[in-house]
Amino acid sequence: MELKRQLLFAEMIEPRTGELLRTPIDVRIDPLTGHSSRILPERGLMPAGDFDLEAYARENQPRCPFCPERIDRLTPKLPAAIHPDGRIVHGEAVLFPNLHAYSSHSSVSVYAPRLHYLPLELMTERLLGDNLAAQVAFARAVIAADPGSRWASINANHMLPSGSSLFHPHLQGIVDSEPTTLQRLLAEVPADQFAAYLETERRSGERHLGSTGRVEWLVSFAPIAPAELRAFIGEVPSPAELDDDLIAELAHGLALALTGYAEMGFQSFNLAIYGAPPGTDRYPLNLRLACRSNLKPFYRSDSTFLERLHWEGAIDLAPETVAQRLGNRFRR
Ligand SMILES: [Zn+2]
Repeated sequence: MELKRQLLFAEMIEPRTGELLRTPIDVRIDPLTGHSSRILPERGLMPAGDFDLEAYARENQPRCPFCPERIDRLTPKLPAAIHPDGRIVHGEAVLFPNLHAYSSHSSVSVYAPRLHYLPLELMTERLLGDNLAAQVAFARAVIAADPGSRWASINANHMLPSGSSLFHPHLQGIVDSEPTTLQRLLAEVPADQFAAYLETERRSGERHLGSTGRVEWLVSFAPIAPAELRAFIGEVPSPAELDDDLIAELAHGLALALTGYAEMGFQSFNLAIYGAPPGTDRYPLNLRLACRSNLKPFYRSDSTFLERLHWEGAIDLAPETVAQRLGNRFRR
C-alpha cells in the first residue's frame, strides 16, 4: 500500500529580515477513511502542562457526583432489563447510565469512586482493565436485551479540554442502532485494506510501535488530533466480543500509551474504540487515542476550524517524532 502524501510550501517575506521564507506543509491522506491531515513544522502549539491539576481537583471535589459520598445518591441506575443491580461493578470500576445520554444506551464508568484525581502517570493496567471490563459487560447486556442496538463503542473524554464536563476520570460507552460517522466509515473499509495498512507500517517501522500479542499499535500516519495512536484488535468486530485476555492486553497497551503521554507532558486525551456489529466479517476492532491541549486558564484549544469544520487535522507534532518519543515500550 502506498501512503499518500504531498509536500506543499507557503512562501512569504519574513517581516524583520525581508528574506523569502518557505514553510513546508506535509499533507497526508489517511489510508483507511481518506481524511487528510496537515503536518506542520513544530511551532509549540501543544505546550506541556504546568497547571496544578491536583489543587484544581481538591477545589471541585466537594461537588463531584462520582465521588464515594455521592455516587449512590446522584447517579442514575440501569433499567432492570439491562442489569438487575442497576449498576455494573467490576473491581473498583462502577458503570451507570449517562444522565446526559448521547444514544439510546449511553453509559459512564468511573475507574474508581475514590479516584477523583487520577493523573495519567498513575493510570494502571488494573484500573483500565476493570473499567474496560465494565464497559464490555454493558455492551453485552445491551445487545442481549435490545438486539436492534448492535453498534458499540468505548470512549473517553479525559479532563476538560477533551470535552469532559466532569473532572472525575471516567470512560463512556455508547450502544446504538445507528453507527456514528466514523464507525460507519471504518466498517465500510474492506478487510484487506486494514491488513495492507498494518503491513506497510510494519515494514516502514517509522510509526509502528509494536504488538502486545493480538493487538497492534502504531502512530497515525494522518492524525486528526495530536500524538494520535491507533490500535487494531484482529478479527474482533465489537467490544462486546472482547474476552478477558484481550481486555487485559488492551488495558496493558492503553496504560503504556497513557503513561507515555504523561511523560510527553500531556494530561488530557480522547479515546474511541469503534465497534461494528458483532459477527461483522473480518472487521478488526479499531482504537484511536489522541492528546488534547493541557488544562490551564485561557488555554488554546487544539481543535480549530480545520478539525471541526473541515475534518482535517492540522498538527505540529510529526507522527514520526511521536513514535520516537514513545520508543520501545510496546515491543515485548
Ligand atoms: Zn469525584
